[in-house]
Amino acid sequence: MPLDPKRTVAELKELRELTGDDDGAQRIAWTDTWERAREWLRGLVASTGAVESIDAAGNQWFTLPGGSERAVLIGGHLDSVPNGGWLDGCLNVVAGVEVLRRVAEEGALPVTVRLVNWADEEGARFGRSLFGSSAAAGSMADQDELRQLTDRDGTLLPDALAAHGVDLDSALDARGELDSAAAYLELHIEQGPVLESLALPLGVVLGTFGVERHRITWRGQAAHAGSTPMDKRRDALAGAAKLALEIRDIARRAGGGAVCTSGGVVCRPGIVTSVVETAEQLLDQRHLDAGQLAAMLAEAKASSERFAAEESIDVGWERIWSIEPILFDETLIGFCDEAIREVAETAHRLPSGPLHDAAEVSRAGVPTVMLFVQSLRGLSHTKLEDTRPEHLELAVQALDRLATKTLAKLG
Ligand SMILES: [Zn+2]
Repeated sequence: MPLDPKRTVAELKELRELTGDDDGAQRIAWTDTWERAREWLRGLVASTGAVESIDAAGNQWFTLPGGSERAVLIGGHLDSVPNGGWLDGCLNVVAGVEVLRRVAEEGALPVTVRLVNWADEEGARFGRSLFGSSAAAGSMADQDELRQLTDRDGTLLPDALAAHGVDLDSALDARGELDSAAAYLELHIEQGPVLESLALPLGVVLGTFGVERHRITWRGQAAHAGSTPMDKRRDALAGAAKLALEIRDIARRAGGGAVCTSGGVVCRPGIVTSVVETAEQLLDQRHLDAGQLAAMLAEAKASSERFAAEESIDVGWERIWSIEPILFDETLIGFCDEAIREVAETAHRLPSGPLHDAAEVSRAGVPTVMLFVQSLRGLSHTKLEDTRPEHLELAVQALDRLATKTLAKLG
């Protein structure tokens, strides 16, 4: 059976009809609608002869055995956010079915090919993203916190999982699934504006950004807005304001797609007649290179000390969260680059701002690469999310070429 990328687009529309409404996709993990999507996928894969299994974390696997147990994995997620888009996550699952169909037809496979539909990538209902992939990667370390999580209706996460056959206490048993994995491939919509701005359909993803998140507290002195001369003020907001502008230069100087965001400033006392006494500022910095990320953080800290001195105020830093950059596999990046150039002439290499299941699999030591297809207007997690059908078809072709190159190398 030759590859039929148009069929992928038609099947994505079928899934949208089956599991969406006027507000968008409603495939929230651990719900009936999500289960209906999994059932639909089961039906789609049946004709390939791939064997289905559900692991201890609820991930849905389809395996086409080959001459060796070593496996090429193609992975995505059918779950969506509420009122989500029609492509986020499910594109790769449905495109992966098309690749399975083609390789199943070809007969004897040198190595095993597995399609995985990760459980609860979005964390939309309980606020914990990458549930299934982090369990399989063995990096899930927050089971005690997970036990306490409730959704908006007060349902506990372990109860929601149990209703779908998953026992939180044994979710980490899913680890065994990656033992035989030799490569992991994931196609995803970009969810950002870069490829569209370059007028390119496809890009090779180099890895996922490292992230540094901090809370910065500036302390000055509250004083009357009418009686305090300008040169006698210790204005905490002035420090936050200077830093909010400085981080633009810090990101620009670092280059390589660096981004810095001052996501909010809370001022106290926060009244119109007082100089600001404390300003609590949130800062998010991201870079693909760990050294550059550390340098950006050091620069921001040094700038904050300078601004504090200039404004006669104090400044303190507190880390909220951080993660190292995750770099994808050099060889697979090369295959992905070739695959894209074969179907679309030009390949662009870019980092991923959002985290994906691929980051968890890569962290577990499995050679990994991702392929991005252009998102229109950079929109995602909304029903407005869209990609041109001709670009979706190119993406299916590129994924297939990437899988072919990866199989040839391992076989
Ligand atoms: Zn996604």
